[in-house]
Amino acid sequence: MNKNYLSKIAQELKPSGIRKFFDLAAGMEGVISLGVGEPDFVTPWSVREAAILSMEQGYTSYSANAGFLELREEIAHYMKNQFDVAYSPSSEIIVTVGASQAIDIAMRAILDPGDEVIIIEPSYVSYAPMVELAGGVPVFVQTFKENDFKILPSQLEEVITEKTKAIILCSPNNPTGSMLNKKELEDFAQIAEKYDLLVVADEIYAELVYDEVYTSLPSIHGMKERTILISGFSKGFAMTGWRLGFICAPVELSQAMLKIHQYAIMCAPTMAQFAAIEALKNGRSDVDEMVKSYRRRRNYIVQSFNEIGLTCHSPGGAFYAFPSIESTGLSSEQFAERLLMEEAVAVVPGNVFGESGEGHIRCSYATSLEQLQEAVKRMKRFIEKLEA
Ligand code: PMP
Repeated sequence: MNKNYLSKIAQELKPSGIRKFFDLAAGMEGVISLGVGEPDFVTPWSVREAAILSMEQGYTSYSANAGFLELREEIAHYMKNQFDVAYSPSSEIIVTVGASQAIDIAMRAILDPGDEVIIIEPSYVSYAPMVELAGGVPVFVQTFKENDFKILPSQLEEVITEKTKAIILCSPNNPTGSMLNKKELEDFAQIAEKYDLLVVADEIYAELVYDEVYTSLPSIHGMKERTILISGFSKGFAMTGWRLGFICAPVELSQAMLKIHQYAIMCAPTMAQFAAIEALKNGRSDVDEMVKSYRRRRNYIVQSFNEIGLTCHSPGGAFYAFPSIESTGLSSEQFAERLLMEEAVAVVPGNVFGESGEGHIRCSYATSLEQLQEAVKRMKRFIEKLEA
């Protein structure tokens, strides 16, 4: 072939910075990985059984484009009971292939070329590429450890322009674990209303919160009509491999996203949808048990990091600690690479999550307490060696 057939955007898209460390770690023995962003729990048995039963009974065809109505009804109950927001199962809920696809169709449904979307860094690595692939322009705003990585309304006002269409808000946050409380969400909402902006609220970690009651953005007065709520089963219900998420949004937005979903995907996998119905009906006690375990691990890792000289705020949710490594004098890439090579512990350098992620590392505590203890022992040794 003489011609370059690749689109400009595909050529320019950078591979994820997280992948590089997985690949390095995969070639090594005895690595403790604090790198992956997924639960170490297996999906609860009753949930797996529901999928098996559906297959035994021969339910192997497409569902409705938006997902089985029974699942959308369960999602509507869940959103009402758990988060106090009412959505119509028939017109305001779409079952998607993970929260990942939800982000994709949300961006494609709202962006015209050149429209700006505000991304709060440190940020989940998919947002900016998804905005760009939809023809939009990501505009970054930074949060810092001094403020527990929480965004201040004044910071948003500084970057809002005529072209701003939406803000993406991820709370609890990947990679910082930071979570906005009700008052902070109300302040945030005022800005969205003042400038008439949409908010894409990625609440995939809403189940994994440890200190405060969770407030969902659309439950804040006036926000439901301007929020595209994204969530899913991967994190809270330990179902990453099932690839199931959902979107809740006002009917006009939902129907636009559904058109894209219908052409691009048709429907989410049906066996996973049967599993999700069971997860929402009967999975509460399993989720509660997992949350208890994550809380124990969070408390341990945050205390241990602070003890070994890595300042770490206590994350309110998700399963990531984001300690500062500035005291070591290394960049986050250097720290992660040397820690992996010298002590076989895999973490993710903070710079892959944006400018203000530099000086930090992301450590997932979705791994056993024993593994965490061994990782801390190795990291302590590594830091002592650096200081010697
Ligand atoms: N949003 C955030 C903030 C995430 O951390 C992840 C997974 N790492 C996703 C979305 C995608 O999740 P899913 O498995 O549902 O596609």
